[in-house]
Amino acid sequence: MAANDSVAQVSLEAKSPYELRVNLGKDVPESDVRSALATGDMGFLHSFTTGSTVDGPGVRVVAWTTGCMFRCLYCHNPDTWTMSNGYPVTVARASEELRKYRRGLQVMSGGFTLSGGEALMQHRFAVKLFRAARGMGIHTALDTNGYFGDRVSDEELELISLVLLDIKTWDAERHRRLTGMDVAPTLDFARRLAARNRPVWLRFVLVPGYTDDPEDVAKIAAFAASLGNVERVDVLPFHQLGRHKWKRLGLDYKLEASESPTTEVIARTIDLFRDAGLKAY
Ligand code: SF4
Repeated sequence: MAANDSVAQVSLEAKSPYELRVNLGKDVPESDVRSALATGDMGFLHSFTTGSTVDGPGVRVVAWTTGCMFRCLYCHNPDTWTMSNGYPVTVARASEELRKYRRGLQVMSGGFTLSGGEALMQHRFAVKLFRAARGMGIHTALDTNGYFGDRVSDEELELISLVLLDIKTWDAERHRRLTGMDVAPTLDFARRLAARNRPVWLRFVLVPGYTDDPEDVAKIAAFAASLGNVERVDVLPFHQLGRHKWKRLGLDYKLEASESPTTEVIARTIDLFRDAGLKAY
């Protein structure tokens, strides 16, 4: 079956991102994957959820893409790392789905959020979806680790109403140990968003023993405050909801024994951001 035949039949029913999903796009020929990435007319989604209140302002429809270049030790969705674990969806099909929610999203001051995985692994698809959403008058948000921020042009950045930018940790070596990749491209993207005055909400996952060093947090806070476009900071306490996925995928989960941060550590971390003059929660 050709990829486009399978795409036409896909149902975009709401799925939880916590559900393990693998190999949904395995029947799509490699050449179709390559052409999808090149044109952005088709993308790969892990799931599509409605009614989120934690992925940007108001009530959101969220599409979770597959594919990620990071390997965060605490990732709660490791099944999103591989693009072919997602199901193929055309921009036309995804736009049709979004159109159904347009009125409701406007009434609830919400919008559409593209998350992942890392959505900019499929940057052409992402840009086409944002263009379609904005064409319908829908607020758009991109949840990203920022590593591929330079793939999006200045003109395309204007299609994104809000960037939810994840900064994992400040120290370069620690960042490499935690994610497998360099922190510099993320920080460069943050500076570029600031230079272009694009609104940003910073997301910071608080993992005991990995990202809770107050000195490191204070450096992120000072950096974020210096940018001038960071509207708020969300401190996201580590949890174990993704543990079962690591096991079922046969991956070596190094945080097996890790606990969620205590309320004291969460409060201390939020205060570090507030002390720098940011709104933090
Ligand atoms: S960037 Fe997000 S999806 Fe990618 S490995 Fe890290 S936590 Fe997982």
